[in-house]
Amino acid sequence: MNIIVTIKQVPDTDEVKIDPKTGSLIREGVPSIINPEDKHAIEEALRIREKQDDVVVTALSMGPPQAENALREALAMGVDKAILLSDWAFAGADTLATTYILSVAIKKLKKYDLIFCGRQAIDGDTGQVGPQLAEVLNLPQVTFAEEINIQGNVVTVKSNFDKVIRTIEVNTPALITVTKGINRPRFKTMNGVLRAFRDKEVVTWTKGDLKLNPMRIGINGSPTWVRNTFTPSHSRGGLVTEKQSKDLAGDILDFLLDKNLLNA
Ligand SMILES: Cc1cc2nc3c(=O)[nH]c(=O)nc-3n(C[C@H](O)[C@H](O)[C@H](O)COP(=O)(O)OP(=O)(O)OC[C@H]3O[C@@H](n4cnc5c(N)ncnc54)[C@H](O)[C@@H]3O)c2cc1C
Repeated sequence: MNIIVTIKQVPDTDEVKIDPKTGSLIREGVPSIINPEDKHAIEEALRIREKQDDVVVTALSMGPPQAENALREALAMGVDKAILLSDWAFAGADTLATTYILSVAIKKLKKYDLIFCGRQAIDGDTGQVGPQLAEVLNLPQVTFAEEINIQGNVVTVKSNFDKVIRTIEVNTPALITVTKGINRPRFKTMNGVLRAFRDKEVVTWTKGDLKLNPMRIGINGSPTWVRNTFTPSHSRGGLVTEKQSKDLAGDILDFLLDKNLLNA
């Protein structure tokens, strides 16, 4: 069985900054990590490999040259192969162009039974790439997975979307997006790190290695325009009181009644 895990290198911060002119994410000066849910996807693939014979796990990432670090980390966790899709022609990609390039690389790999993605990236945050990839590759998809069981070519997935639990069966090949609830990713071992840098390689595919339509990559292939970005302000004044706690409850009640927020 061949499992491909798509991983994205993201800034290690909760405060994503946006360039006001270009609308793109500012990544300079911020340390990078593997997108957290992608680590859970890697872990799930490794657990399947531990239970079954002949499972090969490939990590695939599109990004700038430094995204190699994320792939090295995936190798250190234990994936068998790592492929970086990197070329300046890919820069400026929105989710559509990202999906297209990932799909062409996956088609080039030819053999795949399962594709695991994170549910959502913590920077771009759209949650679009996994589902789009399934559409482009014409695969059945299950999103928000928090449990995966495999019997032959039937995959049973427990999906938890907004606390609604569904159990869904799909046949391979299929694409599954995973959530943090699925497992606890393993730590890298010293041996794993040594092997990742000494014995394993990150293969880089550039524009020339993939049969790409130039109108579907980079800025040309990205119909998304960021019109405006802003941090929502919390400008509502609320109630500020400096009274002692015994008088406070009455004040809050009066305030809520005054605003018609309670049925008297
Ligand atoms: C107009 C515009 C311009 C942009 N320009 C740039 C740019 O120049 N450089 C840039 O880095 N980003 C750029 N972005 C952001 C980029 O489009 C998204 O980060 C990217 O397409 C993924 O979307 P997302 O972060 O919402 O991922 P999500 O859809 O939330 O990700 C879900 C899952 O898909 C997989 N995935 C997502 N992205 C990748 C990837 N690159 N490689 C492998 N797997 C992946 C992961 O498994 C991830 O967990 C731009 C976005 C817009 C709208």
